[in-house]
Amino acid sequence: MSFKQPVLTYGLDGLAPYLSEEQMSYHYGKHHAAYFTNLNGLVEGKPEADLALKDVVKKAEGPVFNNAAQAWNHSFFWQCLCPSGGGQPAGDLLMGIERDFGSFDKFKEQFSTAAAKLFGSGWAWLAAEPTGKLVIMPLSNADTPLKHGNEPLMTLDVWEHAYYIDYRNLRPKFIEGFWDVVNWEFVAGNLTQPFQE
Ligand code: MN
Repeated sequence: MSFKQPVLTYGLDGLAPYLSEEQMSYHYGKHHAAYFTNLNGLVEGKPEADLALKDVVKKAEGPVFNNAAQAWNHSFFWQCLCPSGGGQPAGDLLMGIERDFGSFDKFKEQFSTAAAKLFGSGWAWLAAEPTGKLVIMPLSNADTPLKHGNEPLMTLDVWEHAYYIDYRNLRPKFIEGFWDVVNWEFVAGNLTQPFQE
């Protein structure tokens, strides 16, 4: 069995003008695809090859972890975005955000700052602790809340490869535009039915 990169639920040009077709074709078509190719090469004939990708992420270390996590993180990230996204969350997610961050605007500000300040490559995450408390976790490289016992709800990829074609070195502009394409239904869904793949 080998791990397969999920098909995008929108076109490579679906998030334009936030992300151009060229940016997406490199990010999804080259970077994300390569993590699957590398992972499949590393686990061929090994017990990990028969696990769900999310379980490989939870259990593995070293190169297998790096490639498995990067494969999973991106599959999760694409779902956090959608062409008709943006606006505000609703329901239990909004209540949780208001409870743990004070207000939606305060949450946006804290998340954006965490994403902007993350040194080097990494991911900014919104995650739920086992108690249900919502937390912002800026994590380096391929690291994920799954490794810290928390459930991922939303993420933003702040590796330079995520934005260099459209934004060059301007990570804050890339972060600002993210709020216009967030798929809040997907994010909220992770509270009750966490993303697997
Ligand atoms: Mn990436």
